[in-house]
Amino acid sequence: VVVIGAGFGGLAVARGLLGAAVDVTLVDANNFHTFQPLLYQVATAGLDAENVAYAIRGSLRGRRRRRPSNAAVRMARVTAVDLAARRVTLADGDALDYDVLVVASGAVSHNFGVPGVAEHTLPLKHLDDALALRTHVLTRFEEAAADPAVVAEGALDIVVCGGGPTGVELAGGLRELYTMVLAKDFPRLPVHEARIVLVEMADRLLTPFTPRSSERARRTLVERGVEVRLGTSVAAVEEGLVHLRDGTTLSAGTIVWATGVTAEGVAARLGTATTRGGRVVVEPDLTVPGHPEVFAIGDIAASPGADGAPLPQVAQPAIQGGHHVARQIRRRLLGEPTEPFRYHDKGQMATIGRHAAVTELANGWRLSGVIGWLAWLGLHLVYLMGFRNRIQVFVDWAWNYLTYDRSSRILRESEREVVEESGEQTV
Ligand SMILES: Cc1cc2nc3c(=O)[nH]c(=O)nc-3n(C[C@H](O)[C@H](O)[C@H](O)COP(=O)(O)OP(=O)(O)OC[C@H]3O[C@@H](n4cnc5c(N)ncnc54)[C@H](O)[C@@H]3O)c2cc1C
Repeated sequence: VVVIGAGFGGLAVARGLLGAAVDVTLVDANNFHTFQPLLYQVATAGLDAENVAYAIRGSLRGRRRRRPSNAAVRMARVTAVDLAARRVTLADGDALDYDVLVVASGAVSHNFGVPGVAEHTLPLKHLDDALALRTHVLTRFEEAAADPAVVAEGALDIVVCGGGPTGVELAGGLRELYTMVLAKDFPRLPVHEARIVLVEMADRLLTPFTPRSSERARRTLVERGVEVRLGTSVAAVEEGLVHLRDGTTLSAGTIVWATGVTAEGVAARLGTATTRGGRVVVEPDLTVPGHPEVFAIGDIAASPGADGAPLPQVAQPAIQGGHHVARQIRRRLLGEPTEPFRYHDKGQMATIGRHAAVTELANGWRLSGVIGWLAWLGLHLVYLMGFRNRIQVFVDWAWNYLTYDRSSRILRESEREVVEESGEQTV
């Protein structure tokens, strides 16, 4: 079994096959799994990068120590899949043959063809993106400390494009970073006057949530000092400028692109049917049509929900899809037919910052404020990979909460050079 991608979905497949009578090779471009829901905390200096990443090899060690694991890890980028030859080609030129293939390489940031996005905005999809964003914001502050004149040009202002969960959490987290930490670090700069603007094309934030939760999120953000611009989209981006379709132009030292994602490139390279968002069309059992030996799960697949519509590109469909595929491979080993995938909706949640979150459970319960926030914290700790990471994140959160501080705001020379040399932001 070859599994492409060690995200939520791919890792669930590989772990679900530990001890089964199959050889599993888990291929990922990195040697670590990223817990993407907490990336915004790395970007806003709340957590260290190591706390939201976990070494893939560590999570696939055999359960019985004396017996070697049946799962191997290969760090490589997949560049092609030959369905007829049942072969996966890697960027280093090597190839892996398979009997069963699981495609779980996720999604990538999408610029929707808006001019200037690729050159002048920062995405938030990978660990490196989070570190680059943190470095970028902190560098703007150091520049402003050296030359306060740049503040009037908008050096400290931020525009976050996209009012989904990522944009909302990031805008709230950045505002906290500014008011709780950077205002104290840079007492001579007018940090409280810096604008953080959240732009959303729809007429409300968090569109997958109920209008009541959307309004609660908007109100909380505005109360905390975030400007929310609804019902207008980004027409173009230039260096330090965001042109909106309503005719206004926002200037900002940092522009973040958090509007959405599209399926990762392997989806197109399969050559099978895809949806409008580039996601792989799958059968009810999550196999690719015409290829019962190939499964696609998570963000890259249009996994059908109870009503047949594609499930949202969030963690639970990937995790549950991974468990399902591992079960189906085990069934086939026993000569049993595959079963259709049944998704169990557990609800959704987004945090806006200290004491504020919106949580909608599948049973209709709505939690907000402190209770919603505590539910958000608890759930993210439960799903975070690795016991040590959980302890570390818990300690960091307690520290940040009690001291109103953020410890992860060092500017490493190597990362600083990346910003300075490139001279511009890239997706
Ligand atoms: C900033 C952010 C915040 C989010 N917040 C939430 C949240 O609060 N709640 C929630 O439910 N969901 C959230 N999500 C969405 C959630 O993280 C994704 O839906 C989930 O990670 C999808 O899992 P996956 O296994 O399909 O893909 P991923 O977890 O993205 O994993 C894909 C893996 O494939 C690897 N890969 C990609 N291409 C290749 C290739 N060509 N060759 C080899 N390896 C490759 C990648 O390195 C990666 O490890 C968030 C996403 C982001 C970006």
